[in-house]
Amino acid sequence: METPKEPARPLRAAVLLAIGSELTAGETRDTNSGELARSLADVGVDVAWMSALPDRLGTVTATLGDALVQADLVVTTGGLGPTPDDLTREAIADVCGERPTVDPELERWLRHLFERRGLPFAEMNLKQAWLIPSATAIPNDRGTAPGWLVERPDGRVLVALPGPPSEMRPMWQAWVLPRLRQRGLGRERVTRTYRLAGIGESAVAARLGERLLRAENPIVATYARADAVDVRISAAAGAGRSAAALFDEAAAAVLAAVGEHVWGYDDDTWPAVLGRELGTRGWTVALVEVGTAGSSARLLSEASWLTSARTIGAGEPGSGGALTHLAERARQEADASIGLAVRAIETGEDTHVEVAAVGPWGASESSQTAFLGGAEGRRRAALAAAALLDSILREGAPG
Ligand code: ATP
Repeated sequence: METPKEPARPLRAAVLLAIGSELTAGETRDTNSGELARSLADVGVDVAWMSALPDRLGTVTATLGDALVQADLVVTTGGLGPTPDDLTREAIADVCGERPTVDPELERWLRHLFERRGLPFAEMNLKQAWLIPSATAIPNDRGTAPGWLVERPDGRVLVALPGPPSEMRPMWQAWVLPRLRQRGLGRERVTRTYRLAGIGESAVAARLGERLLRAENPIVATYARADAVDVRISAAAGAGRSAAALFDEAAAAVLAAVGEHVWGYDDDTWPAVLGRELGTRGWTVALVEVGTAGSSARLLSEASWLTSARTIGAGEPGSGGALTHLAERARQEADASIGLAVRAIETGEDTHVEVAAVGPWGASESSQTAFLGGAEGRRRAALAAAALLDSILREGAPG
């Protein structure tokens, strides 16, 4: 009788290791780990930690050993080349207590690759045909370094991929990820980002409070981006509760604290969000900005509804006077539905920002002191212009 097979260990926590002295010398940036982290987050796997390591066998072996104690899945990139300083395979073999041997099939494939290119086959290259008994070769269609997928007796999995992103990426996406999914990858997870305007990150954090921000699940985190303060909620199923139920609870708390500042979700941008509201009404916008060095036009760039954008230096002719007049003139000159005018005036260390919008509903204005001067103040002036237009449209300006 066949013994029933143990269910595979669920892969919930990962460690990512980028291997190569060029990384620790600061000559190459480790982009692989970030890409893998994002991909793993999408499928509900927590990355416990990630590190860059030099091409030193002792360091790589010791770190792999630690990683395999702490995580269900370890993914390495780099160090799979043919030269003696490419020692990821040696380190994995050491940790697993296995001896690498040349795999005949990989050797045939590798020799054929060299033949195709008309290159002599140096024996050093045979290292790229190595396998250990617990490893399966991961095919590499774009290079000479196959990867390894190693299944440990305790159900943990170790994946070794080559360093070049153009090789690593397709091997991960097309070969590794589907196989890991099949054996149970990650936890059910619900994630959403709320995009906020008109409030700073520290004020957001103060309103959310420590209990929410320090909780392990759901994770609620704030990020100061150029176009918004983001609040991201990520809930994983656990303790007998679904991810959706845990998410809903955290989302209700976040919205109660800062809901009035939310202008978008997830990948929303200002041009897209304003474009949705303007599009339903068939409206266009003419922009004029004073003293902002074009920051509003940059924020709203590539918006199909922006028919004209003009920048006037502070103190130049046409920069003064009532802002609603500037907005009205811009609207008429461009034959747009809305004229939007923004003026930034540096006041000591901060920036005084005025915004006016004139459209089919009439005229609206706002003014505020934006924290900091210079480019930072100008960036905030552009956000204030987008936020005023957004609030007018949301408050149901007639279409
Ligand atoms: P191959 O033999 O196919 O080059 P390899 O696994 O030996 O594969 P490495 O020699 O470690 O790869 O790195 C090759 C190149 O890949 C590096 O010069 C660098 O441009 C890029 N690279 C390596 N690691 C990373 C990383 N973590 N992030 C981004 N790029 C990387």
